[in-house]
Amino acid sequence: MLRRIGLFVAAVALILVLGTVTAKLIKAREQKQALAENFSRKVTEMPEFDVQLLTPNPYSRPQTALKEVKGLVIHYTANPGTTAQQNHDYFEGLKDSKLTKASSHFIIGIDGEIIQCIPSSEIAYASNERNEDTLSIECCHMDETGEFTEATYNSLVELTAWLCGKFDFTTEDVIRHYDVTGKDCPRYFVQHEDAWEQFLLDVQEYIKTHGTEEPEGLS
Ligand SMILES: [Zn+2]
Repeated sequence: MLRRIGLFVAAVALILVLGTVTAKLIKAREQKQALAENFSRKVTEMPEFDVQLLTPNPYSRPQTALKEVKGLVIHYTANPGTTAQQNHDYFEGLKDSKLTKASSHFIIGIDGEIIQCIPSSEIAYASNERNEDTLSIECCHMDETGEFTEATYNSLVELTAWLCGKFDFTTEDVIRHYDVTGKDCPRYFVQHEDAWEQFLLDVQEYIKTHGTEEPEGLS
């Protein structure tokens, strides 16, 4: 009799343990699926941009290999009213003026136009100690507040979303210059934390609506 009760208790215990383990496995699988759904979408359509690569020189295009791209750093030009072309030309002119070392992979203008200055296989001089493993985007702005025009903002969302797909970033890999050095850059997104959070949400939303699922088993 005691043995039977013992067996019964053991059987019940086994069922309970198996049930818990199964429930945990199912939950883990569901969480993994949800995560995969969020990040498997990629924006494959390249935004329009004008490629005007800088002349190789030690001040703005040192041609140092960018071996591993781990993130994307957002900046503002800190030069109100200037155009993307003017900022490009400033970087280009550093080879002669030798004033400082500065550049960026991309510049977005007030009308939303995008200029690429440095290939994504090379470093730019934009983000201090993160130059060696990140890409950079400089954004033009109208005034001292550093707030971006709607056109600049929309291009920034589009370019960021596309780069996330191209380099397998999540929005956690998208940071501000401020997050590297504490610098007031990009000013509007430093002064308005809610606007920065909203920007990251807008990038996620763009990927969700414009991205396509990667075919199963392809990496
Ligand atoms: Zn910056």
